[in-house]
Amino acid sequence: MLKPITTLRLRAATSLLAAAFVCTTVGTAEAADPPAAAASASAAATNPQFKVRPADDAWRAALPRDADAATRAYLARLPSETVARANAYFEGGYWLQLWNFLLGLAIAGVLLAGRNSARLRDFAQRIGRKAFFRDAIYGAIYAVAVFVLSLPLTIYQGYVREHAYGMATQTFGPWFAEQLIALAVNVLLLAFAVGVLYALFRRAGARWWVWGSGFGVVLLVLSLLVGPVWIDPLFNTYKPIADGDVKQAVLAMAHADGVPADNVYEFDASRQTTRVSANVAGIFGTASVRLNDNLMRKPLAEIRAVTGHELGHYVMNHIDKFVVEFAVVIVIGFAFSRWAMDRLLARHGASWGLSGVADAASFPLLMAVLSVYLFIATPVLNTMTRTQEIEADRFGLNLAREPHGFAEAVLDLTEYRKPDPGRWEEIIFYDHPSARFRIHDAMRWREAMGTKP
Ligand SMILES: [Zn+2]
Repeated sequence: MLKPITTLRLRAATSLLAAAFVCTTVGTAEAADPPAAAASASAAATNPQFKVRPADDAWRAALPRDADAATRAYLARLPSETVARANAYFEGGYWLQLWNFLLGLAIAGVLLAGRNSARLRDFAQRIGRKAFFRDAIYGAIYAVAVFVLSLPLTIYQGYVREHAYGMATQTFGPWFAEQLIALAVNVLLLAFAVGVLYALFRRAGARWWVWGSGFGVVLLVLSLLVGPVWIDPLFNTYKPIADGDVKQAVLAMAHADGVPADNVYEFDASRQTTRVSANVAGIFGTASVRLNDNLMRKPLAEIRAVTGHELGHYVMNHIDKFVVEFAVVIVIGFAFSRWAMDRLLARHGASWGLSGVADAASFPLLMAVLSVYLFIATPVLNTMTRTQEIEADRFGLNLAREPHGFAEAVLDLTEYRKPDPGRWEEIIFYDHPSARFRIHDAMRWREAMGTKP
């Protein structure tokens, strides 16, 4: 469920300063018999490349009680081409993480070693009167520079590749327009963040990393408060779910656990993608459960299973807990940065035209150092979120009591996630559990509880 800031896809290091908590639960599939369709006015999107062999009540009734055997039977419904395609897509994502990391370092190299960052700072100083605005101008131009330099990879990853796998539903124009909206948000965000960060660094002296950590946590909380309310609606329309079976079923589960009833929303993700997803957003009791329109057209059992999972995040205060965990990650990241920045600035500061850590021109260096840290910490970050996902899965099974609905929904995830990875592969790369793990959880629940079918 955790993704660096929603649609914006900020580069790794920037996301340490401004991460948002978004839970993307499910993939997509053909909707076999969607009783939910009548309840949803939206036109959901499907991926012609993605197939799961359908199953009916007779198939479920004949399923072995044994959790291992039932899990195997579920996974066997994935045609080999579907599995091969999912593996290729997801494993390609491992490499993309590496390319994004290396590109980020290369961009920092171009900005620093070419003295472009120092020149940019000098330019900002000529037009900005106050120190805060100079640094803010620097931050804004930095955001544009990173956008331009990483555009080829962004287009490949976000447009070409998504179309190649049949998941994208936008033509280039609307897609690129959204990238420009994201850029505008990023420019404002980085202007503000760099302006404040370097005002703090100037006053903090040797303790800059302590203040940096504090500001990082503040930015994280701000992004969680502001993102769902002001940023997400820039890309999708959110509305309370329509009256009908789905609304009744979702509200019944919400009420059962004391979740405020008016906080269940539907959004038009089919504008961008065929993926089924849902998320819980917000912080400090402002959380809302949001289901996408691709999910809304699924059978009711799947919607209930997924909603049970999302309500689990809400009831177990996962966002607040995540903030506390991520605060620790941020503090360690800045402590590492202090160690690395001292050495790098002593060695290269003069030749790169940097006067010190409180010089905004050293911002690309700080981002590069933090990105190294985050890259190394990837398995830890993934395990943090994957652990919450497992908790939410089990909560959802207890609440919705839909082991088959949940297993079906998880099978749909294979549209974009390798279903049966190796043990270490899952620990290192998976921010959600694999289909095999999640279906096994559902089938173990079914076996232990002795439910029918
Ligand atoms: Zn989740």
